[in-house]
Amino acid sequence: MKKLKKKADWLTKAKKRKMKKKDRGIVEIMMLTRHFFKELPQWLNEMTDPRHPSYTTYSQADLVLMGMLKNMCAVKSMRSMEETFNEDACIATLRILSGDQGLSEMPHADTLNYYLERLSPQCLADVRKKMVKSLIRKKSFSRSRLLGKYWRVIIDGTGLFYFREKHCENCLVTTVTREVDGKEVKVKRYYHKVLEAKLLLSPGILISLDTEFIENEKEDVSKNDCEINAAKRLLERLHKDYPRLPVCLQGDALYAAETIMKMCRDWKYILTQKATRQKVLAESYEWIAGGGGAETLTGIGKEGGNGEYINHVEETAGKEEEADMYRYRYETEEDGEKEIHEFQWITNIELTKKNLEEMIEAGRGRWKIENEGFNNQKNGIYDIEHLNSRDSNAMKNHYLITQIADIVMQIYLSFSPLRKEIGQSIKNTSSGLLESFRRHTVTDEDVSYISKYTTVYLE
Ligand SMILES: [Zn+2]
Repeated sequence: MKKLKKKADWLTKAKKRKMKKKDRGIVEIMMLTRHFFKELPQWLNEMTDPRHPSYTTYSQADLVLMGMLKNMCAVKSMRSMEETFNEDACIATLRILSGDQGLSEMPHADTLNYYLERLSPQCLADVRKKMVKSLIRKKSFSRSRLLGKYWRVIIDGTGLFYFREKHCENCLVTTVTREVDGKEVKVKRYYHKVLEAKLLLSPGILISLDTEFIENEKEDVSKNDCEINAAKRLLERLHKDYPRLPVCLQGDALYAAETIMKMCRDWKYILTQKATRQKVLAESYEWIAGGGGAETLTGIGKEGGNGEYINHVEETAGKEEEADMYRYRYETEEDGEKEIHEFQWITNIELTKKNLEEMIEAGRGRWKIENEGFNNQKNGIYDIEHLNSRDSNAMKNHYLITQIADIVMQIYLSFSPLRKEIGQSIKNTSSGLLESFRRHTVTDEDVSYISKYTTVYLE
């Protein structure tokens, strides 16, 4: 099959340069922030301010917005932020963004850290909640819902910081074997982990819905224990924060636990099924399938593979939670060697011949491939493993600022004409934004254009 050339390939180099010259990333960020989160500065200023009122020079919006820009512009350290943002244009832009007319200098890195050491992380989490709610209300993203109804929420845990020495009271501990002078010794390592619930808004936009910091409740708890416990805390909160949101929870086999399934009774779930995690269900499935009790569909999915499902396996397995199970299998051949690819999931969505293909696609998580930003937080522009502060409270707040910044950034990446027209990479779009923030003086004309802009087209 002949591949169609992308539009970007047809553009001449001169035309691409011309487009780049016209790039006013920071103005677009202002426009999008205003369009989607008009009250953001107000939400930030309404947080409970932990500082003594007589010593405050900067508003909370000044500080958090600067932290967000540090992330969006891929500035790695606090010190380089201080140098990079020390420009008249930056001050003028921050003044407009935060609405703080009295702002005359960019805040110091120390000032931001001092503030983040004291601010309750709950405050930033609440601001994120307001942002997410206003996005859901916009309806522009409702097309990506599963079976036209369910918002897809994906939970996943990830390691953040690793230390040789105990860093704080809540550090997770693991024992590793190291060779010291030719002898094997066991040493302790300390680390921090987060559990994220991401919300899929479109194939290109996957945003942070909620965060649970995985902390040590007692010494030497197993890895699974603390992730499942963190998931329970997170899911409880999601039910409370979004009581009417139709959710389909997705996750890997680790979360295919009865406690998690139980918490999804008023939601839907799709979890990766592994025989090692749900043994009785797996055996029951094989038993029913062996007797010809499975429904099958052939030639489906991108690879033209085979789908198979059995509803209500829990009845045979003697389990309480609804467990409908399905499979997808396809074969590939490379150098005469056949390889079988097999996937299996467990769900409480009743499977039908009509929905099986969409359910397989959902289970396989194509958004992971389509969403370039998925790995961005670690390997790309944000570098979330960089420690901006050793203080554990500031650490959480820095992490939450990254998540808030990422919401704006993903919308920007999805909107950016340079991304759409010339296929500019995420990294270059981010450094272009930094250039624009440092060089462009936002004019009154820009501001009036921004306030008149009412329709935003995203990819
Ligand atoms: Zn720690």
